[in-house]
Amino acid sequence: MEKDNVCINCYNQVDKVAKLLKLGQAELDILTIPKRILTFSFPVKLDSGDIRYFTGYRVQFNDARGPTKGGIRFHSEVNLEEIKTLAFLMTLKCAVVNLPYGGAKGGVMIDPKRFSEEELEKISRGYIREINNFIGPDMDIPAPDVNTDAKIMAWMLDEYEKLKGRHIPAVITGKPIPLGGSKARDFSTSIGGAYVLQELADTFDMKLKKTKIAVQGFGNVGMNIARILHEWGYKVIAVSDSKSGIYNNKGLDIKEVIKHKEKTGQLLKFKNSKVISNEELLELKADVLVPAALEDQITKKNADKIKAKLILEMANRPITPEADEILLDKKIFIMPDILANAGGVVVSYFEWVQNSQNFYWSEKLVLERLKIYMTDAVKALSKVCTDLKCDMRESLYINAVKKILEAERLRGNLR
Ligand code: NAD
Repeated sequence: MEKDNVCINCYNQVDKVAKLLKLGQAELDILTIPKRILTFSFPVKLDSGDIRYFTGYRVQFNDARGPTKGGIRFHSEVNLEEIKTLAFLMTLKCAVVNLPYGGAKGGVMIDPKRFSEEELEKISRGYIREINNFIGPDMDIPAPDVNTDAKIMAWMLDEYEKLKGRHIPAVITGKPIPLGGSKARDFSTSIGGAYVLQELADTFDMKLKKTKIAVQGFGNVGMNIARILHEWGYKVIAVSDSKSGIYNNKGLDIKEVIKHKEKTGQLLKFKNSKVISNEELLELKADVLVPAALEDQITKKNADKIKAKLILEMANRPITPEADEILLDKKIFIMPDILANAGGVVVSYFEWVQNSQNFYWSEKLVLERLKIYMTDAVKALSKVCTDLKCDMRESLYINAVKKILEAERLRGNLR
């Protein structure tokens, strides 16, 4: 097979599992070469009257288990290798939580802060015009990702429906509720992570009011998980954003912290709290550490200083592979991103189901069903972990890879 399209990062990530499962070349090809890669450029007339060409990507990694699913990001550092890797991770994530989907990812190489709202709308519509023949409710279903949101999904949906001449809300998820979005979608990633933590509470003897939690990042994911865990009665002792962190060993009143941040635009100067740096937050003596900001926050430089018993990876790839080894040696339990932050894609799946049936669910029903998906996945993985005596990340990969290869085998694409 032509090897030009191999995803190098995917190869590195799957290598260990490939050895454990004794995979052959055809199986490795399925796991490292995307099924379809679209690279394109499209023109947009800017506010100044100039025409500029933008580069876009859409990678549909594997669709053996169902239509591909994954977000579209707008970022100046978007590149094809990164999009391939993220599409591969989406394939694993959907398999881990048992969604009838494959994985995809897309992006446009732009710094969205440098464009007006009108320009962003034209870029969003231009992107959809390029991929419209390759997406659809039973083919590939995009969603928001870094720097894209419900407003952008609404423009993209509108462009797609104009091209097709009919309503097809299930083509895209993460939409505003009046256009077919799901209840609870905006905090689904965070509450999904909180359900995972709750499922682990007995194993790790995490008692309400006693368990101390530190959360890095106070954006959509970090703020909502801090709020939910505080509401449930856990002691959130520290939170941080890109500017600074705040700490109180007796626990912070997160509702008040949110009000303070909304009023002043910062966490600093919150009453009864001590200012700490992001490095200090990561190294606090907490029971649970929740990285919910960026990738590569725990590296070989600071891994040895981490004191938490459990790390819930809400951000994507917050721990480097070298740091992972150090933390495992220290017997720190890591709940990996592809399960911890899968709540968003589960509720995206619910949105697609609701759009397909034209029948909409209450928030209560969405959350009940989300809890079942998240806790079932934790239970299934804990069993793989015990049976195979491997760590959680290896178990997740083994579990997902087996499901994807089984689907390929049943289709006759593998012996
Ligand atoms: P966001 O932009 O809303 O928030 C990011 C937060 O991190 C902000 O508060 C920012 O100030 C803070 N931050 C930035 N640099 C920091 C640093 N060095 N130290 C501490 N804080 C820092 O983004 P988000 O949607 O909350 O996403 C956070 C992470 O979760 C990302 O890795 C994202 O890929 C992942 N994720 C998000 C979703 C989702 O549904 N939003 C789903 C899956 C994964």
